[in-house]
Amino acid sequence: MEIFQEAMNIETPKGRPKMAICYDFDRTLSPDDMQTFTLIPSFGVDKSEFWHESDTLAHDNLMDNNLAWMYELIKYSKFKGKSLRREYFKEIGRDVQLYDGVDTWFENVNAYADEKGIDVEHYIISSGLKEIIEGSRIAPYITRVYASSYLYSADGIAEWPAQVVNYTTKTQFIFRIAKGYLEEYDQRVNDSVPHSDRNVDYDNIVYIGDSATDIPCMTLVKSKGGYSIGVWDPETGNKKKVYKLFGDGRLNFYAPAVYTTDSPIFGYMKEVIDEIAAKQKQKDRRSELSDAAESFKRKSAASAIIDSVRDELTDEEKAVAEKILKKIK
Ligand SMILES: [Mg+2]
Repeated sequence: MEIFQEAMNIETPKGRPKMAICYDFDRTLSPDDMQTFTLIPSFGVDKSEFWHESDTLAHDNLMDNNLAWMYELIKYSKFKGKSLRREYFKEIGRDVQLYDGVDTWFENVNAYADEKGIDVEHYIISSGLKEIIEGSRIAPYITRVYASSYLYSADGIAEWPAQVVNYTTKTQFIFRIAKGYLEEYDQRVNDSVPHSDRNVDYDNIVYIGDSATDIPCMTLVKSKGGYSIGVWDPETGNKKKVYKLFGDGRLNFYAPAVYTTDSPIFGYMKEVIDEIAAKQKQKDRRSELSDAAESFKRKSAASAIIDSVRDELTDEEKAVAEKILKKIK
């Protein structure tokens, strides 16, 4: 009789619809690379000199650029006798500058989405250092920070890269967020997850970034029906990158990196939330129609199974089978 019981299982209704906003960090939420505010100056070296050295190391050794700066930081720390501790990175995070309006953006977006019946999760996907972002003022609003990070010794000193996040590896985290396999080690990220079991629908994902390193994520999100937004630095006013990204079809919107409630990006975000809310109504309607059609299919299948074995059933089993069919009807 189990097969009949299974046929009757009705899916439990899902909670409120969810959307995810994913952010690059450097030059998207913050006006410079996070290492440049405190860390690099603390070694007594100029930032352009540091990045030149790091890029040269990567170039000459066919090395990932992020692994190169991670190596350079350890090299400088040893040379200067300054241990790179997790807690030190978190302290540095407090001094990372943020663009205008970032401090209040998350609460304002959450409040607007809440009015529309939508829950928002915010994620950072950055090539920078996870511990610095986790020490920054926005950390309390972030569901999860995906970024490069170190493996620490028993004494808490950075020894080796634990995670390195670059342009193409950034896309892995979009799949993690959509499928709900959030832990970096969880290999189920490669599994196919049915639409009904996803953490967030792909078309409810927004990606915000500023440069070529964000292209794979922007392309992925946009191709799956989500939204990509490019930002440009309001200080320099240089829109070259966003014009190129938009012209190449990578973006839905572009705006200055100003996040106040009267900013263009806040306006775009409200439009995206409105659209997600409208899409959700249609999804709910389709789901109701699909439930009715599915129940009919199950009833037909159950009837066919019962008919095929009717002669072999005891009177008691027949009574149960009829009861189940009546209930499905
Ligand atoms: Mg960036």
